[in-house]
Amino acid sequence: MKMNCIRCGAEIETIHEHDDNSKPEQKMWGDGVVDVIAANYGSKHDGEMYLIAVCDNCIDNCLLSGKIKWRGNYMAGSNGFFLK
Ligand SMILES: [Zn+2]
Repeated sequence: MKMNCIRCGAEIETIHEHDDNSKPEQKMWGDGVVDVIAANYGSKHDGEMYLIAVCDNCIDNCLLSGKIKWRGNYMAGSNGFFLK
């Protein structure tokens, strides 16, 4: 499966494509992040869910420029580590 980075258009592709019927956001993606974002009350898209892809280079650049914020690491500890 392939998706394109929402920012630069770079192709992001699943690794281990042989895997299963898992949802795209549960698959392993090479050199990027693919996940679901959900709109909440206040957005005209309230209730809608979207699958988006961002390549690792754009994550790095957007972190440096402040366009995205680091939120935590879900692999740290039993409950993960998250900023408040
Ligand atoms: Zn990108």
